Order: sequence, then C-alpha cells, then structure tokens
Amino acid sequence: MGPRILVTSNGYGGGGRRILVVGGLLAATVVGVNAYRFFNNQEPDMTLSRLRFTPIKLQSSTQLTHDVKRLTFALDNPNNRMGFTASSAVLFRVKLANGKSEWRPYTPVSTETQRGTCDFIIKRYDHGTVSPVMHGLEPGDQVEVWGPIPFIKYEPGKYQDVGLIAGGSGITPCLQLARRIVGDPSDHTRVTLLFSNKTADDVILKEELDRIAAQFPSKFSVHYIVDKPPAKNKWTGLVGRVDADVVEKVMPPAGKSTFIGICGPPGMVATISGDRPNPMAQGRIGGVLKELGYTNVFKF
Ligand SMILES: Cc1cc2nc3c(=O)[nH]c(=O)nc-3n(C[C@H](O)[C@H](O)[C@H](O)COP(=O)(O)OP(=O)(O)OC[C@H]3O[C@@H](n4cnc5c(N)ncnc54)[C@H](O)[C@@H]3O)c2cc1C
Repeated sequence: MGPRILVTSNGYGGGGRRILVVGGLLAATVVGVNAYRFFNNQEPDMTLSRLRFTPIKLQSSTQLTHDVKRLTFALDNPNNRMGFTASSAVLFRVKLANGKSEWRPYTPVSTETQRGTCDFIIKRYDHGTVSPVMHGLEPGDQVEVWGPIPFIKYEPGKYQDVGLIAGGSGITPCLQLARRIVGDPSDHTRVTLLFSNKTADDVILKEELDRIAAQFPSKFSVHYIVDKPPAKNKWTGLVGRVDADVVEKVMPPAGKSTFIGICGPPGMVATISGDRPNPMAQGRIGGVLKELGYTNVFKF
C-alpha cells in the first residue's frame, strides 16, 4: 500500500506531499541502514557482536589492590580480537546467585589489536550487584559480552595534545585511549595523564603506566596525585585534590589543539569539568576546565 500514497492530486501541494513522503522514505531507509550497520557490526575476526551476547571464559585474575582486580578473558576464538575501537566499553552479562541475569558496562584496557584475550580492570563495590560476581569468577568460569559501546571515535592527528584526568578505577578509558595513541607510530599526539587517588596504595597499574612513560618519553607522561601521601620520603608525586593549580601545572594548555578526557567519581568529574545531568549526558563544560578555558572536553 505504501507507494500509493505517492499518487496525489495535481499542484504544488501534491508535489510537496510527494517530496515529504519520498523524503520520509529516504530518511527511514538511512535510519534502517545505519541501524543495520550498528547492530550487524561483526567482522570475521572479532568476538563482540551487537546482535547477541557472546560467551567468553575467565582465563586469569590478579588482585591489584584490596578492591580492584585485573581480569583477563579468553576470547571464543584464540585468533580473534575483542573488536572495539578506542574508545569504547562493552557490556558484561552475568548470572546472579538468585538465577537472574544482570549486566553492567566495563572498559577494556588491552589494545584493540590484542588477539585471543582481553583485559579489564574492575573495582568491587561491596553492596554492588555485578562487580562482586566479577570478582568471584574463577578461571574457566563463563560470562557473556555484548558491544562495543563507543564513547568517542578517536581521530589520530586531530589534536596535538590529549590530556587525560582519571580518578581511581576511572583510569580504564584513559589507559585504553593512551595505549591506542602511543601504539600508533604514525600518530604524534602527546598524551599527558593526571591520575588521582586517595592513597598511594590505591594507585593501580603504576608499574604499567611508568613503563609506557619510559618507553614513549616524547609521547606519554604521567603525574600521580594522592589525597593522603605516605611517609614523605616515599612519595614523589603530587599531594591534594585536582584543582586549577594542579591542572595548570601539569596538563597541556587550553587551546584548539588540546583535547581533555576525564573519568572518575561523579563529584570529581563535576568539580573539574562540570556536572552531568545524567550518566548518559555530557552536560556543559564547567568547573576547573571552564575556568582555565578548555573547550574540547569529553566526560567518559
Ligand atoms: C561506560 C562505563 C564504563 C565502565 N567501565 C568500568 C571499568 O572499566 N571498571 C569498573 O570497575 N567499573 C566500570 N564501570 C562501572 C560499572 O559499570 C558498574 O557500575 C560498577 O561495577 C558497579 O556495578 P555493581 O553492579 O557492582 O553495583 P550496583 O548494583 O550498580 O550498585 C550498588 C551500589 O554499589 C555502589 N556503587 C556502584 N557504583 C558505584 C560508583 N561508580 N561509585 C560509588 N559507589 C558505587 C553504590 O553504593 C551503589 O548503591 C563503568 C561504567 C560505565 C557507565
């Protein structure tokens, strides 16, 4: 019946309606094609799909701090890569003790090109639903993944400087993006990471971050800041909260060629970069970053 609508009376009104109908059909087609592309995202060598949840098994887990673990999952095919591009998250679906299933987003920290396995850093919330299940997984246990869920599409060379501000387990999208940039020899973007934690014991992945900084001294630098430092002679990093002075001191200056990404507890993100009306929305740039004139800001 649809095409009959195109047969209208003579005159401009009919032509206008025809244009509207054709335009509507075209728009619907574009939406349909884009939706098809979005959901039918699987390539032969990738594990992630948006059409279904894919089972993967825990290969190993390492306790990094009292409440953070690194989990390495074996992909469904040892030649596969997970199938995300920086920067993205994936959904994990797990079975709860009551038999129901629940899912939460987590951010891969291994590179896009890693094959056979994929790594995650996961913080446990004692009263949480999914994070305690993730922490309780034993090697061989199965969960399911769906995705990817893109945050931003990183374009090499678009910015001269990428400044990343991470709080606690908010390091995950920052590490993913930093690894993407330093791992591409043709990308000359400089990455500066400011990593904030309560205490020195809470600083996860310090060895890995320091190793990346030593390997790529002209491309990657990292600054640590803690609220409560340990004995003075043991802490060489910054002390206190991230404020305008700290950002001005260590981050690349504001300008068209600087991009800032931030991820951390909501209070920290609001103070530094402005409030988010909800976790899905960016909100306006505010706080310290607005005060210092930054305009290219993304809240992961
Ligand atoms: C896009 C995206 C990517 C993410 N990537 C990661 C990642 O790589 N690693 C990671 O560890 N987490 C990540 N998270 C957070 C993760 O998805 C879960 O929200 C987190 O693991 C808590 O889930 P839960 O089911 O255990 O707790 P829920 O059942 O959802 O929450 C129960 C209680 O736990 C506590 N709680 C939960 N979340 C928080 C929080 N963020 N801050 C303070 N208290 C909290 C609160 O007391 C809350 O009432 C990401 C979130 C998003 C939106």
